[in-house]
Amino acid sequence: MVLVSKPLFYEVQKTRNICHKVFHPWHINCFVGNLMHTYSTIKGSAKFFAVLYLLQCLSKYKKLTQNDIIPIMRNFSWSLATAMAYSSLFVATPCFFSYLCGFVPYHAVAYITPIISGLGIFLEFPERKTFLASSWGTMFVEGIIKRIYITKLLKRNLYLETLIFMLCNGLLMLMLKMRKKPTKEMWFFAPKLTTEKEKNDENAMEIEKNPCSHDDSCIQHCTKVTMKYISFAYAFSVIKLLLTNVKLLKVPKSFLKETIKMKSLNVVLFFGSYVGVYKAITCYLTRKYGCENRLHSFTGGFLAGASYFILSKYAILASLITVLLKVMSQKLMNTYKLPNIPYSELIFILTNIYLMKTRIFFDDACPRIFINIISSCTDGRSETIYSSFRKIITEILENRTNINYESS
Ligand SMILES: [Zn+2]
Ligand SMILES: [Zn+2]
Repeated sequence: MVLVSKPLFYEVQKTRNICHKVFHPWHINCFVGNLMHTYSTIKGSAKFFAVLYLLQCLSKYKKLTQNDIIPIMRNFSWSLATAMAYSSLFVATPCFFSYLCGFVPYHAVAYITPIISGLGIFLEFPERKTFLASSWGTMFVEGIIKRIYITKLLKRNLYLETLIFMLCNGLLMLMLKMRKKPTKEMWFFAPKLTTEKEKNDENAMEIEKNPCSHDDSCIQHCTKVTMKYISFAYAFSVIKLLLTNVKLLKVPKSFLKETIKMKSLNVVLFFGSYVGVYKAITCYLTRKYGCENRLHSFTGGFLAGASYFILSKYAILASLITVLLKVMSQKLMNTYKLPNIPYSELIFILTNIYLMKTRIFFDDACPRIFINIISSCTDGRSETIYSSFRKIITEILENRTNINYESS
C-alpha cells in the first residue's frame, strides 16, 4: 500500500469538491451527505453496542437484577451518542474546512479532524471513558510496534519480543502484588493480594505446613486455576469462531475440526501455560522460603511471560505494555498527587490523532481491530471513504507516470 506523504496529499488537496469526493462520496451535497453518514453510524453503532452490552450482561448474568436494566440502557444510549459524535464530526469537520477555505488542508485532516472527532469521548459515562482510553492506548502501542517493523527500523525478532514480554509481565505481576486493595485492570490475570496469615500458636504449625495463601494443596490449587483459564480460553476461541463464521454451525463436522485446529489450540496453550507456570513458580518459591514475597511474583511473572512464544501477537504485547503503563501512572499519581485533569479524555484524543492519521496516510501500520471497529460502527461508510481517497491517490500517481512517460 502506498504511503500518502505530505506532498502527495497537497495534490489531493487541489482536487475539486474534495469533501464530496473523499469524505461523503455517497452524496454531492454536504448536508445530505453528513445526514446519511450519521444515519449509518446510528445503525452500525446500535448493532455493535448491542452485541457488546449483551456479551457483558451474559458474563455477569448471575449478579444481574431488574434494577440493572435502566443503568444498562442509559449507558447504551451514552455509548451510542459518543459513537455518533465521534463519527459524524469526522465527516463534518472536513466539510467545514472545505466551505471555509475552498479545499481541505493537510493539517485539518491529519490533526484537527481527529482532535474534534475525539471530543466525542466527553459524552461517554466515566467508567467507559477509562475503558475507551485503555483500548485506544493499546491500539496506539500496537500501531507503533507495527510501524517500527514496517519501516524496517528494527527487524522482527521473536526472541527479543518474548524477552520484552517476560520483563513487562514480571514488572506487572510485581506491581499488582504490591496493591493495597483490588483494582480493575484490563489484563486477564492478576495475583492475589498479600494475605498475612495471623501467626499465633494455634496456626503456627499449619503455616509451616502450608505458607501459601490457598487452603488446598499446591498441586490441587495450580491444577484448578490452570484448568479454569484453559476452559475460559477454549470457550473464548469457540465464541470467536462462531462470531466470525456462523455458517459453520450448519456443518458440525467442520465446526468440530475448526475448534481443534492449531490456531485455537495456541490460544488455549498460551493461557494454560501462562497461568500454570506463574502459579507453579510462586507456590514453589513460597514453600521454599516459608512465606509469600513480592519478588516471587516478579519471578513467576517473568517466567510465565515465556508463553508469549506460543502466541506471539502484537496485540497481546501492546495490551500488556498499556496495562503496565496504566498501573505505573496510577502509582505515580498516588505518590506525587498530580493535578486532577481529565487524563482518560486526553489519552483518547492524543492516541486518536495517531490512529486516524495512520489509517488515512499509512494504512499498513494501522491495527486491524481499529479498522474493524470503525467500519462496524459506521455500517461500512468508513471503508467507502477510504476507497474513494485511495482512488484519487491512484489517479494522481497514474497521471504522474503518464506525464513522466510522455516527457521521456
Ligand atoms: Zn462536504
Ligand atoms: Zn501453593
